[in-house]
Order: sequence, then C-alpha cells, then structure tokens
Amino acid sequence: MIPAPFEYERADSVDHALELLGRFGGEAKVLAGGHSLIPLMKLRFATPTALVDIGRLVDLAYVRDGGDHLAIGALTTYRALVDDELLRRECGLIPRVASVIGDVQVRERGTIGGSVAHADPASDLPAALVALEATMVLTGPAGERTVPASGFFESFLTSALAKDELLTELRVPKLGGWGFAYEKFTKRSSDWAIVGVAAAVRRENGSVAEARVGLCNMGVTPLRAASVESALAGEPAGTEAFAAAAAEVAADGSEVPEDLNATAAYRGHLARVLTRRALERAARA
Ligand code: FAD
Repeated sequence: MIPAPFEYERADSVDHALELLGRFGGEAKVLAGGHSLIPLMKLRFATPTALVDIGRLVDLAYVRDGGDHLAIGALTTYRALVDDELLRRECGLIPRVASVIGDVQVRERGTIGGSVAHADPASDLPAALVALEATMVLTGPAGERTVPASGFFESFLTSALAKDELLTELRVPKLGGWGFAYEKFTKRSSDWAIVGVAAAVRRENGSVAEARVGLCNMGVTPLRAASVESALAGEPAGTEAFAAAAAEVAADGSEVPEDLNATAAYRGHLARVLTRRALERAARA
C-alpha cells in the first residue's frame, strides 16, 4: 500500500520540531520510530499533510537519575530500555516489558515516546506506566507541562497530547527492591498482546505491603487494576491470596474489546489467569 502524498521535514531540535508543528497548523504528525505511524499511513487510516521527523534528536534518548525518579527521554528505543542498567536496578518492570515488544527490528526502532503517544490499549508499555504511576512531560509552544499516566490516556488512540505538543520525557518512580513481572498472552511471539498484565509487588515480612497492577488490552485505554491491588494489601504473598485478588480483575474491566482473537469473556479469563501468574512471579523476583 502507498501512503497519500505528504510533506517531510526533519527537526534538528525540540524548538524546531515545535515550530514545524505550528507551521502545519495541526495537520502534521510527529515521526519517531515509524513502526505504528507508517503502517497506518500505508493503509491510509492516517493521512497527515506533513511529517515532522524527530528521529535524529539524540538529546531525547536517555535514561537519567532524577533524584526521586528516573527520567526517560521520549526517543529512547525499546532496545536501549532493555539494556539500561539504571532501569534494571531501580525500575525493572520497564526493561522486562520492553523485552517482549514485537521482534528485534521493532525493538531497535520503536521508541517509548511513540508507544505512549500512540495510545493504543494493546501496546505493552502504557499498561506498565499506568501501574507505575509514571508522569508524562509534554512540551508545547507555551512550555512544559506534566500529566500523570492515569490522566494521559483518554480513549482509544487518544491522549492528553495536543497537536502542537511533543512528548519529551517520561518519569517513573525508583522502586529498587520491588519484584516485577509482565505476563503477555499472544498467539505468536512477536504479536501484540491479546491480554497483558504488568505487576509490581513490595513485600514486607512475607506479606504484600503494596502491589500495583496494569492491564493491557482490557479496555479502550490501558487500565490500572485497582480492585486487585486493594484486595492484596496486607495479604500473605502466596498463591491463594493472589488467586483471590486476580478474581477481582472483572471489577476493573470496562468496555473489554472483542475481536477475531478473543471474546470479552475469554479476555476476562486470560486477565485473571495472567494476573495471578504475574503476581506470583513478581513476589518471587
Ligand atoms: P511512531 O510510529 O513514529 O509514532 C506513533 C504515533 O506517536 C504517531 O501518531 C506519532 O505522531 C506519535 N509520536 C511519536 N513520538 C512522539 C513524540 N515524542 N511526541 C508526540 N507524538 C509522538 N507495540 C507493542 O507495544 N507491542 C508489540 O508487541 C508490538 N509489536 C509490533 C510488531 C510490529 C511488526 C510492528 C510494526 C509494530 C509493533 N508494535 C508493538 C508497535 C511498536 O511498538 C511501535 O514502535 C510503537 O507503537 C510506536 O513507536 P514509534 O517510535 O515507532 O512511533
């Protein structure tokens, strides 16, 4: 398939990218790794009049210690997330999730910012970022603003990002000592999740002191499984407690998608099984 005609501009700084977005008056799209945008353009589901290519803004590819959090530049590739020592030590859920996205080529080109800005509920990282209570940093003509992950994803492929803004940074908490797991159910290893469950668990004296759970592809946005988390507080970190908490997933699913891969009921079943597995694995990690 061939995309509709479009203009192409390569940005050489964040300011330049913002100027270009302003020049095209909301009709342009930002191009990062291109692994979601280009397929959509080829199918003509997206027909931007211009692409603003930010792919060479190397200043936006980093993982830094931000004091009480880790700062991740929007152009950081999945591969870089997988390999990053700071992330592995302080927030191991992100490398874990990034390691099962797509295949080697996708992980080499795809960026955390592209995944988040695309706001596809079937994407893996957004569910983890919601569970981690990450913060998105958006930069626009009026400067910088921050939006919590819980308020960023508004609907299917729709986020709080304005057309003249760039997602420039993501901030995740330091959770050294927590256990993490990501359970992803697919038909083939490089596919999108039919359902994915991200779990982070902090134990104290054999009990679950705190748990955070994010659900991928269980609604029109990535979801936080709040009822699972509250069912677990203070419970012994064991199979029975995790199975009982996983049964609470149903209370969190809203508008569960149905497609060729799964009915809503089957997705609900998967979510419960994967939640239990993710919690067990995170508690052992
Ligand atoms: P792009 O495709 O360049 O952009 C995506 C959207 O975000 C566009 O609307 C663009 O304008 C916008 N955008 C990008 N960066 C910014 C920014 N900094 N500020 C503002 N807007 C921005 N994803 C998964 O999660 N799991 C999978 O298993 C998976 N499998 C895949 C398999 C294949 C074969 C392919 C082709 C893709 C797969 N993906 C999967 C999608 C992949 O993760 C994409 O890389 C990701 O969704 C988008 O990142 P990108 O950098 O490629 O963004």
